[in-house]
Amino acid sequence: MTDQPIPLKPRKSRAACPICGRPPAPEVKPFCSPRCADIDLGRWLNESYRVPVTEETDEDGETAPGADRD
Ligand SMILES: [Zn+2]
Repeated sequence: MTDQPIPLKPRKSRAACPICGRPPAPEVKPFCSPRCADIDLGRWLNESYRVPVTEETDEDGETAPGADRD
């Protein structure tokens, strides 16, 4: 069975720093320190960087305008 506490899961109404799980500081809520806020921001940017945009247009040659198919 899993009996270990999960730091990333905030308890009921007590939010914890999503980075390290420490009690958040009011100035940088919900993080505990500017550093953690920075880390989170970095993660965010990092994730938007590697967004897998696989928008391959299927050019299967459907009805192309100007196609002489007579
Ligand atoms: Zn933290």
